[in-house]
Amino acid sequence: MNLFENSNDWAQKLEPILKKYEGRKHPLEYQNLYQLLVMVVLSAQDSDANINKIAPALFEVYPNMESLAISNLEVLFPYISEVKNYNTKANWLLEIAKTIRKDENIPLKMESLTKLKGIGRKSANVILRELKVPATGIMADLHVIRVAPRIGLIPETKDGIKVEKQLMQVLPQYIWGEIGMSISFLGRETCRPIPKCPECTIKEICSYDKQF
Ligand code: SF4
Repeated sequence: MNLFENSNDWAQKLEPILKKYEGRKHPLEYQNLYQLLVMVVLSAQDSDANINKIAPALFEVYPNMESLAISNLEVLFPYISEVKNYNTKANWLLEIAKTIRKDENIPLKMESLTKLKGIGRKSANVILRELKVPATGIMADLHVIRVAPRIGLIPETKDGIKVEKQLMQVLPQYIWGEIGMSISFLGRETCRPIPKCPECTIKEICSYDKQF
């Protein structure tokens, strides 16, 4: 593995997944920016499928930031009680809503998004990618953490912040916005914990010890 491999080489090698997944909507079934933000907060350490399941009832009662801002834990709990760590996440959501107040005040910059409770760089990168805001980072979720070292892009680590930093060193900025979700989609569909290498579109360039 060579961390200093020419970044444009990597952009070219990863072209098949960029082409395949470019612009594909995130699996969270959100209808607007407010819903996206709430669902991203709820999805930490839980599955997108579970958040999609509880979302319709939640958003019927809480259709916007204003409605959430005037709520309280007791009323909110039943709508998210199936979500992992719902107690902490309820506190985060209420604090975010009381800070932001209105949907139109949701910030669209990395620095201001990550100042909100429950929003780290990974969540902010997801939100900014969905809104097609020019990227200032690379989304590194659990799939990216597993797949990027397999491909040979970066050394193995479980630390998402390190993964993002290292990816930013080896990949050219013009692909930052899409490459995180592209690797994530590859990880969800093909490069599973037990990878399906024979059907992978980047098997020719991947450095994983493939057992065909
Ligand atoms: S070839 Fe295999 S290990 Fe490499 S990215 Fe594809 S599925 Fe993952």
